[in-house]
Amino acid sequence: MRKGIVAIVGRPNVGKSTLFNRLCRKRSAIVDAMEGITRDRKYEIVEWVNKTFYLVDTGGIVINPEDDITKAVKFQAEIAISEADLILFLVDTKVDVTGLDMEIGKMLTPYHPKVLLVANKADTQEEEHDVYGFMKLGFGEPQAISATHGRHIGDLLDRIVERLDLTDYEDADPEEIRVAIVGKPNVGKSSLLNRLVGENTAIVNEIPGTTRDSIDSNIRYHSQSIRLIDTAGLRKKKSIKYGVEYFSVMRTIESIDRSDIVVLMISADDGVTDQDQKIASYAARNYKSIIIAVNKWDLVSKDDKTTGNFVKDIRESLSFISYAPILFISALTNLRLRKILDLILQIDLESKKRIGTSELNDFLEQVVNKFPPSHSSGKHAKFYYCTQPTVKPPMFILFCNNAKLITESYRRYIHNQIRDRFKFEGVTIKIVFRSKEKKQKDD
Ligand code: GDP
Ligand code: GDP
Repeated sequence: MRKGIVAIVGRPNVGKSTLFNRLCRKRSAIVDAMEGITRDRKYEIVEWVNKTFYLVDTGGIVINPEDDITKAVKFQAEIAISEADLILFLVDTKVDVTGLDMEIGKMLTPYHPKVLLVANKADTQEEEHDVYGFMKLGFGEPQAISATHGRHIGDLLDRIVERLDLTDYEDADPEEIRVAIVGKPNVGKSSLLNRLVGENTAIVNEIPGTTRDSIDSNIRYHSQSIRLIDTAGLRKKKSIKYGVEYFSVMRTIESIDRSDIVVLMISADDGVTDQDQKIASYAARNYKSIIIAVNKWDLVSKDDKTTGNFVKDIRESLSFISYAPILFISALTNLRLRKILDLILQIDLESKKRIGTSELNDFLEQVVNKFPPSHSSGKHAKFYYCTQPTVKPPMFILFCNNAKLITESYRRYIHNQIRDRFKFEGVTIKIVFRSKEKKQKDD
């Protein structure tokens, strides 16, 4: 399901970062998976009654240092308007409505349906009565809270998830393949998307998002429906210069979360960057299928070694996704764009492949006989059997007497052997080693 983006907006000192930190205590474990992608914690995933959303403190957005405070705050509000599904407009109960509050209010007025007015620093019950003065901002009765004292934070979260009505429209077609095109700015994502959508005469529809104006595109290729995720965010050329970066990592993560297949775009004139590695790693850890598309191939002067050298470099810097196919493309000249669509269909089939239990057990016997497991303690692992209980992602469970006896290098060996034998090109597979008492009948 799509996660909503909630932005906190307000003039300095109203308690934005205090509230941000307070709400982030409701953090989920997903955040840890995101670690390493973001250098600084500008946004967090918050979980509340089985809903999750991204929370952003716009006060933390680095802006042009030459701007004065009014300009900076207005700019932050502008970004929130363009990027967020819900805006928490924060004011300070201990101070009356200020001129800057009024200005922010004026900017937010046209976006009234996605604004929630929050009166912070209502530390006592008496102070909660002081919040009605803020109704003149035009957003109705504010939600009184105290970020430092933790008052009414649960109520606020209830209202946030209630307002974040993110219809699960995308679960409509379980057969469709969801594709996220990701990569750093300027690598050619929008160009590729426009090509894929434009070339395809059979665009089925554009599916409007909910409050944020995001649009996924559906195309049909060989009778298969393919959803290109959140293309509007890419197609729309932003007028806002700063701060877009701030959201781009979050959008990338969000679109990876919603995808089956990630097309990681790398620019031929830049090679693999640090950020590409992090994004690829995030996709792999979340068991997404991956295609590596080296774009702007038209810019490269080539001889007979060029492709080989590129492949070598990419395999080195992205060694943990050695199973991902590499395509050299040009969104400009249309080079191999159909090939991407072919690969998407092929990888989708691969990700649904199921290997029968008897075939798996023959395989296990062979690879274990060829190279039996050993352990420095002198006790060696014994394998019993192997099954593949799931597809998308394909998961293999190998039962043995004691999984602790299986070394890292042996795990890699098994992993490589499974790849060698069953391929699963482009598909991230999951392998689990599980201990099982032999005599135990069931577990
Ligand atoms: P920001 O500039 O909007 O991010 O505001 P901060 O979160 O930095 O808070 C500004 C000041 O207000 C700090 O001294 C906070 O401790 C204080 N503050 C924040 N929330 C509350 C609250 O609920 N009650 C009181 N009394 N003080 C608060
Ligand atoms: P995005 O920021 O990743 O969406 O990148 P864009 O699609 O906006 O492309 C950035 C720039 O690269 C634009 O000027 C494109 O025309 C150019 N571009 C995109 N793909 C190619 C390509 O395959 N070859 C060349 N030479 N330029 C490209």
